Amino acid sequence: MCKVLPGGGAGGSKMKVDCLVVGAGPAGSVMAKEMASRGHHVMVVEKKQEIGAPKRCAEGITKHGLEKFGIEIHPLCISGRIGGAMLYSPSGKRVTMEGKDMEGYVLERKVFEKWLASEAIKEGAEYMVKAHAIGMERENGMWKVNVQSMDGPLSIETPLVIGADGVESKVGKWAGLKTVNKITDYHSGIQFEMANVKADENFIHIFFGREVAPLGYAWIFPKAFSANVGLGILEKGASMRAYEYLIKFIKEHDEFFSAAQPIEINGGGVPVAHFTEMVAEGVMLVGDAAQLVNPIHGGGMARAIHSSIMAAEVADDAIRKGDFSKENLMEYERKWESEYGEKTAKLMKLRAFLEKLEDKDFELLADILQGEDIFALTQAKLSFMLRKVVTHPKLLGLARKYLSE
Ligand SMILES: Cc1cc2nc3c(=O)[nH]c(=O)nc-3n(C[C@H](O)[C@H](O)[C@H](O)COP(=O)(O)OP(=O)(O)OC[C@H]3O[C@@H](n4cnc5c(N)ncnc54)[C@H](O)[C@@H]3O)c2cc1C
Repeated sequence: MCKVLPGGGAGGSKMKVDCLVVGAGPAGSVMAKEMASRGHHVMVVEKKQEIGAPKRCAEGITKHGLEKFGIEIHPLCISGRIGGAMLYSPSGKRVTMEGKDMEGYVLERKVFEKWLASEAIKEGAEYMVKAHAIGMERENGMWKVNVQSMDGPLSIETPLVIGADGVESKVGKWAGLKTVNKITDYHSGIQFEMANVKADENFIHIFFGREVAPLGYAWIFPKAFSANVGLGILEKGASMRAYEYLIKFIKEHDEFFSAAQPIEINGGGVPVAHFTEMVAEGVMLVGDAAQLVNPIHGGGMARAIHSSIMAAEVADDAIRKGDFSKENLMEYERKWESEYGEKTAKLMKLRAFLEKLEDKDFELLADILQGEDIFALTQAKLSFMLRKVVTHPKLLGLARKYLSE
């Protein structure tokens, strides 16, 4: 028999579960699947009426970013297949990055998120949509999470709350964690989905320049019959709103947009630094709630998925031992640090360097660097830079800028 109906039939105003996941984005649904498949009673509450909509994402992910977690994506989640990226300097010089590591998808995120949820539900996870977690309190070693649902107020009791509630996460705050970074560590992202864009659909297209997207970049990610056209900026380098930069970008690129029209607009913050605590007593934060986005390109889906896979291993162990102490749950944070800590620190240094670049520096890099060099950079493989400096002394000035970080 159905234990709970979405938004209805919750069976009263009180419930008890092994693990409550707040948020049904990629992080939340992967967590729910991992926990349900280990036999735990998992409930997911999602405040939106429709999982996955509206999207706040350009929907790009590398094939590798899914395959390394054994995720065999349903074909309906894929809207475009990508062989690489074309990078554009401010004056329009183009560097192409392609190869196996660059292959990827532009997803249909509204479908992808529903598919991830359906995979979790098949394993036994329970879901409630239009169910907004509005606060939580600690009582006798348990959390009581208050949820505003279609059935009215609901109190869900659990020893373990998973904050998968995205960049504006409240769960961490409710648990007393420091979850807010400096304003300079959030990109403002805005994009149109547009129809009839004329861009090579085998590539994503990335545009750099102080006047294009200060301290960030603009993008075109082609989809089956449309494209995500957007940009992310850091407000400290900007003289206009992100939206105004986007309109300017579209107006200045007739070669792509002369006959294009918007069919959707969306946007959101991208946390491009991870200084957040990830666990408290009976609480774990995953995905954007823990600000785990790649600080260079702002992609967060693969890291969100990975964080949930790691967190679930620790959560499973905690449930079996009945030990939800911060100390025990810290194992998740240690695992994350050991896998991503050093790389993220290098990427943060690289981000600080990129933020110092002027348009003439981007032109120089476009003249000298090949696609594989830029890929190495994005992977924080910095030894290549030294080799490049030896053969291209013009890069010496930039190397100094980098080392002065
Ligand atoms: C403009 C833009 C473009 C981007 N492009 C890319 C890209 O191309 N590739 C990429 O990998 N990443 C991209 N990202 C980042 C990516 O979207 C995120 O990293 C990813 O969505 C993180 O997943 P998540 O599950 O942690 O959080 P989210 O996807 O944000 O999911 C959080 C969920 O929690 C729900 N929720 C929040 N609060 C509550 C509450 N109190 N009660 C119940 N439910 C709640 C929300 O409704 C939401 O469904 C982009 C981001 C932006 C803003």
